[in-house]
Amino acid sequence: MRSTKIVSILLAALFVFSFAGCSSKKKCASCGKTEDEVELFLLDPKVYPNSEDAGNYYCSVCYRIAVSRIEVPEIADAISDQEKSQSDEAALKEMVAKFFDAFDKGDYEQMKPDCSLNCISNCFRDGGVFGMKRAKVTEYGPGEFYETNQGVHMYKIKVTVDMEPLEGSSLAGQNSTSFYVLLLQNVGGKWIIHDLKTEV
Ligand SMILES: [Zn+2]
Repeated sequence: MRSTKIVSILLAALFVFSFAGCSSKKKCASCGKTEDEVELFLLDPKVYPNSEDAGNYYCSVCYRIAVSRIEVPEIADAISDQEKSQSDEAALKEMVAKFFDAFDKGDYEQMKPDCSLNCISNCFRDGGVFGMKRAKVTEYGPGEFYETNQGVHMYKIKVTVDMEPLEGSSLAGQNSTSFYVLLLQNVGGKWIIHDLKTEV
């Protein structure tokens, strides 16, 4: 009887533990994304028995960085920088897409919050932006990060749009055009839409 009781206590404890295990979600040990958000990968202790990070779970990006820290530490920072600029780029493209969502609706006020004062004073006019009343992106070119001679970090992406020209603008008579959207990283590190240009 006594052993049955012990077994049932053990079973109860096991139940509680496994239940607790289910409700606490696995997270990336580096960036904290949960298993609900991304797929997680185990840094296998059998493969990396000498690493103090072994046994941790990582998202795919942090996993690559964690493995390179063990295997080729000299390139880990380079990979980390590259991954970081790629995630920056996704955010910048999202900002540009949001800008054009508003432009497609002719909602100029909604376009301004992500723009620099330079962009607002150069490109915005009564009833239009950059010679157009409305513009809808039909194609994005490849984006590119670059640096000005003054060391300012920039990003440019070419867009092709279907558009409605402003009366009297140089685009009058056309219904599509291509130009560049230039973004700039300000001193606080925040990216903003800085200019629209036909040529860069
Ligand atoms: Zn991560």
